[in-house]
Amino acid sequence: MPKIYFVDVTNRDGVQTARLGLSKLEKTMINMYLNELGIFQSEFGFPTTRHESLYLQANLELAEMGVLKAMRLEGWIRAATADVETAFRLVPSIRHLNLSISTSDIMINGKFQGRRSKADVLNMMTDAVDAAKGQGAESIGVNAEDSSRADMAFLIQFALAAKEHGADRLRYCDTLGYDNPFTIYETIKTLAENVEMPIETHCHGDLGMAVANSVAGAKGAIDGGQDVYINTTINGIGERSGNADLVATVLAVTKSKTFAEKYQLGRPIDLRKAWRLAKFASYAFGVPIPLNQPGVGANAFAHASGIHADGVLKDPQNYELYNYTELGRGEPELVETGREICSGEYSGVSGFSHLMGRMAVSFKDTEEARRIVELVRYANVEAQKPLVEDELLFIAKYPQIAKKLLTLTPPD
Ligand SMILES: [Zn+2]
Repeated sequence: MPKIYFVDVTNRDGVQTARLGLSKLEKTMINMYLNELGIFQSEFGFPTTRHESLYLQANLELAEMGVLKAMRLEGWIRAATADVETAFRLVPSIRHLNLSISTSDIMINGKFQGRRSKADVLNMMTDAVDAAKGQGAESIGVNAEDSSRADMAFLIQFALAAKEHGADRLRYCDTLGYDNPFTIYETIKTLAENVEMPIETHCHGDLGMAVANSVAGAKGAIDGGQDVYINTTINGIGERSGNADLVATVLAVTKSKTFAEKYQLGRPIDLRKAWRLAKFASYAFGVPIPLNQPGVGANAFAHASGIHADGVLKDPQNYELYNYTELGRGEPELVETGREICSGEYSGVSGFSHLMGRMAVSFKDTEEARRIVELVRYANVEAQKPLVEDELLFIAKYPQIAKKLLTLTPPD
């Protein structure tokens, strides 16, 4: 039986969202948390973008060190030979890529303005796949941008050409959030049956159906005989109205009525890390978690009305579908209400040592503390807000990696 895997695209779709962004350290922390959850793959950035190079290299180093393992780190680029070459020049150790190109008539005509035909799109894509293979890519996904508005015959042709050239997966992009669960199910099932290759679902929330469409798309792929790789973002952050929320989608495929009886995860996901991950992403993006967000919203396990409170106190199953401990909630959290020492870009050794001491971290000597505090200062210059404990611990544990993440040198 084919299985469900998760590909999180927060560090690509999430950070390209208008008004939002993450520092390179924050992106790294997101990868660390995703790996702890058991996510199959993180789309960790843009290998052709110069300011990403050191961040991408540093994260690949963490993977080599066994810190970011077993999760795959995959970069997203346009399906163009020149972009493939740039990606491998700037990030030589990259091994997993997604190559994106428009596939709907409306985009091919509208974006290329008559300069490129569908045949050109196919050639650009297969040339890019060949180039990536030639450079040593171990896995390649092809992004059919705007799949939901493309015609089926062309999508099948596109996927078969990609497969023939050695691509591993087709990403079905509902770029504009146009699908509904019924259409995406039929389309992806037909695709899976005809192209016989694993399919990724990439769903957006313009009509409020990103999670529902991901679940229906996953069912379509599996009913069509193929593994499915669901694309998600943390807290649903993504272009415009966002993407399928990671936690909600995992809950949906594992807890919704009868679904998990037949449609199962290919790799277990530990949602007990979800609370920490969602809170970190909210802090890093500066976007509060809505009160009613599934699993991690403040009200997800709150009851006020007499009938509900009475019912849940007698037996939580009366009004709760799953337990808060499954999401990593229920632990007491320390909130400082008096004096606070925070990290900042002008932090000193004394305040910093106090902060680290609270986390039971000590330094061999002042010299070491001074070196780490210098990195923390730089991290604050980038983040412009106090670092969280996990970030401070990361810097203290991997100072060489942190230095790489914090090095931003514009090209001449
Ligand atoms: Zn997207």
